[in-house]
Amino acid sequence: MSFKAEYIWIDGTEPTAKLRSKTKILADGAELPVWGFDGSSTNQAEGHASDRVLKPVASFPDPIRGGDDVLVMCEVFEIDGTPHVSNTRAALREVAERYAAQESLFGIEQEYTFFQGSRPLGFPDGGFPAPQGGYYCGVGADEIFGRPVVEKHLENCLAAGLGISGINAEVMPGQWEFQVGPLSPLEVSDHLWVARWLLYRTAEDFGISATLDPKPAKGDWNGAGAHTNFSTKAMRENYAAIIEAAESLGRDEKPLEHIKNYGVGVESRLTGAHETAPWNEYSYGVSNRGASVRIPWQVEVDQKGYIEDRRPNANMDPYVVTRLMVDTCGSALEKAGLV
Ligand code: ADP
Ligand code: MN
Ligand code: MN
Ligand code: MN
Repeated sequence: MSFKAEYIWIDGTEPTAKLRSKTKILADGAELPVWGFDGSSTNQAEGHASDRVLKPVASFPDPIRGGDDVLVMCEVFEIDGTPHVSNTRAALREVAERYAAQESLFGIEQEYTFFQGSRPLGFPDGGFPAPQGGYYCGVGADEIFGRPVVEKHLENCLAAGLGISGINAEVMPGQWEFQVGPLSPLEVSDHLWVARWLLYRTAEDFGISATLDPKPAKGDWNGAGAHTNFSTKAMRENYAAIIEAAESLGRDEKPLEHIKNYGVGVESRLTGAHETAPWNEYSYGVSNRGASVRIPWQVEVDQKGYIEDRRPNANMDPYVVTRLMVDTCGSALEKAGLV
């Protein structure tokens, strides 16, 4: 007997990478081998010498095929064994290792928008739905679009053993969110990429597409973000560490360095309206959903917990965002003796 392994990887498409996958049939009980693909078809190689290497880094039961079949998250390498330039996970491995003693945890809120044809799901042809106000966490066919897909996606994520922790309908019709975590930097990122793959794959069977476009509808409609909640062991024990982490993200060149790596089009979403802070002004505050970084009210009450970086776009790369946060906050906490 044999089983099917769906090898999933991140391609080299600019400015925002896409997910790719293909199937390998393996003999029962076989280990997941290193595999290859044609990088010239994924923006990861020129035509000549286009072999690229897929190295399995995490695997999950495949909820779509079932049985012994698996989903396999991969890193992309050159044939000489060096990480391909599109392989952002390799850099996270190093930083996560360097700050491992701080026990960083992340919970990421992935917002996304369903499309049918060229219109967000729920937008009538040639017109617009009623203005925002009733859709967020709404119920009823006049407010909710795509629930069967969302429910199926949630089931699939749970069956795959992903650390999904919740879902909700968002502010714009056809817009939804799922949360992954809290998990370690590498785990939350691997799980988020596989959850994204499952989102596209699940919606495919309904004839619906999903997009991580940060501003899928122009005008007075909310954008789509990926709020990134973060804590270290010290932050989960001590409020001074919470404040130091929030401060460190605002120091020197850090705000711009982070913003530049928080997803293409971040300026179009972080306008200062629609529950965002302007992209070029760093701020943090307790319970403030108009700040770059929010300290949840419960965290102030408890004097410990986590912070929420509200800036990352829906189309961000979690390997990049978690690396920057672990690096910036981790080194500041170390310097301040808050570890
Ligand atoms: P919001 O009120 O911003 O919509 P959500 O409930 O959608 O909040 O998301 C909060 C996220 O914070 C969840 O993904 C959760 O896993 C995460 N979280 C909770 N505690 C911690 C922690 N100590 N460290 C990191 N993330 C955390
Ligand atoms: Mn949320
Ligand atoms: Mn949200
Ligand atoms: Mn949030």
